[in-house]
Amino acid sequence: MAGQKTAILSVYDKTGLLDLAKGLHDAGVRLLASGGTAKMIRQANFPVEDVSAITKAPEMLGGRVKTLHPAVHGGILARNLESDDSDLSAHSINKIDFVVCNLYPFSETIARINVTIPEAVEEIDIGGVTLLRAAAKNHARVTIISDPKDYHDFLTELKNDGEVSEKSRQTYALKAFEQTSAYDSAISDFFRKKYAGEGQQQLPLRYGANPHQKPATVFMQDSQLPFKVLCGAPGYINLLDALNAWPLVKELTKALNYPAAASFKHVSPAGAAIGVPLNEVERKVYMVDDIDGIESSGLAQAYARARGADRMSSFGDMIALSHEVDVPTAKIISREVSDGVIAPKYSDEALDILKKKKGGKYLVLQMDPEYVPSVEETRTVFGINLRQHRNDANISPADTFNTVMVPKNSSPLPESALRDLTVATIALKYTQSNSVCYALNGQIIGLGAGQQSRIHCTRLAGDKADNWWMRFHERTLSLKWKKGTKRPSKSNAIDLLCSGLVPDSGIEREDFETNFEEGQVPQIFSAEERKAWLDKLEGVAVSSDAFFPFIDNVFRAARSGAKYVAAPTGSQNDVAVFETAEKLGITFVEQHVRLFHH
Ligand code: 5GP
Repeated sequence: MAGQKTAILSVYDKTGLLDLAKGLHDAGVRLLASGGTAKMIRQANFPVEDVSAITKAPEMLGGRVKTLHPAVHGGILARNLESDDSDLSAHSINKIDFVVCNLYPFSETIARINVTIPEAVEEIDIGGVTLLRAAAKNHARVTIISDPKDYHDFLTELKNDGEVSEKSRQTYALKAFEQTSAYDSAISDFFRKKYAGEGQQQLPLRYGANPHQKPATVFMQDSQLPFKVLCGAPGYINLLDALNAWPLVKELTKALNYPAAASFKHVSPAGAAIGVPLNEVERKVYMVDDIDGIESSGLAQAYARARGADRMSSFGDMIALSHEVDVPTAKIISREVSDGVIAPKYSDEALDILKKKKGGKYLVLQMDPEYVPSVEETRTVFGINLRQHRNDANISPADTFNTVMVPKNSSPLPESALRDLTVATIALKYTQSNSVCYALNGQIIGLGAGQQSRIHCTRLAGDKADNWWMRFHERTLSLKWKKGTKRPSKSNAIDLLCSGLVPDSGIEREDFETNFEEGQVPQIFSAEERKAWLDKLEGVAVSSDAFFPFIDNVFRAARSGAKYVAAPTGSQNDVAVFETAEKLGITFVEQHVRLFHH
């Protein structure tokens, strides 16, 4: 029949097939179909030809080759070009106008428990994917229908208009491309688990964020994992921590040219620092005064500072270290409660120390320091994909900060302040927002993470900075611990004492007292004692991941010794914030980039 249109039908899911066949037949379309599809249509008494009518070749290899033939794909791929038309007529091929196809159920097959590789292989659709791709590629002329849900609208359009509009062809083509893409990733997922060596391109994890979230895995699609597991087995949250902590220390080192360390918990730093030399009091406060060789290891001093910032929060941390791990650093780690460490290298001796921790189960990851992530990152939340350009903003003392307001009689930003603002700001880049960070001596001293209001971050971080500073009080330094008191219990008791939260009586009070030698329970700090000591905290640098909406943040920062405050600008209250800083003797620094992290 002159001008008769042709459709090829090849569907695994035969839902709605007969209605579709009827509609196409009523519209005068010639129907060609692969084996099972043709059989069902024929049984319903609609006229249909086997694909072999045009290929002149039978289906073969038990169905592996059904539609793979130039007569089919030439007919689909031909454009309305003279040269294409003459190629077709030279080989007696007719154009195909409609392709209806859906694929073998690969995902359903591999979801079966104990499915074998040969069973999965047989479910890899070749001809169907080729039909989908060819027809979708040539959607300028051909309509590809890949979803039985679209049969009704397709037939309605064909019946009413006698053809399918360009817009509809585009929509159907996109759907087909999405299907082949999802189909291929299901196949590569399956074979990655089977064929990629464990720990190379993929690694099964015990579970996800919670024990009931199984299965869980970490994988790369186009390369090997950039880290090796040297000891232990990583969990999902260990990796979230490690993969945030590692870039943090890498950036600290790059920006400030010091070894750097971070101590992560719940995907925010409990501490982060560069290896500024520790003085004697700091070594005592950070409980590292008995570590041999610490004075000559920048990395050990960096970790002592990172772990020392908030010892209570660092309990069970994931550690990141910027340089080769040496013995003093490994020794500090070996006696703390910690989940794991990521670093570019380990000395043999340091690795031996770490491998003995936790009965041989301590997690030791070796990171490839040259690894550069792709610029785009995608995540799925509630089944919905979100994609963004990775936060690759460069934070550096030279380029990120711009002094806006220097109070009268104050010196401009000294080196040490710029260093501390850089530490605080890089830490915020890897802290769950909202976030505000107080830093001093090249380390975090207080960090407020994940609060919904900025002032709560500023208060939380300020309270932590106060707590940190109370640990330097003579009374805290001379606590008389009962023999056998463990390091975590000491840290908890110090935290209670320094935060001013020890109750006067009751079982909590009794529990607190059990940590100390008989008759040596420390006197609780009075309000006056606290104030007098906290007044001595000065020169603190404070950074915020976004602008301060109200001046209360500046008031709170000033109470914990802030002398330098950095934040992005853009608030209606910017001027009030600058003026408040000036009144309080604080240098206000504009920080160029907003650093939300979620
Ligand atoms: P039928 O039930 O018609 O025999 O087969 C339909 C299925 O075969 C569809 O899921 C389609 O994707 C697939 N198919 C179409 N052509 C080929 C081919 O040449 N080889 C293979 N392996 N599958 C094909």
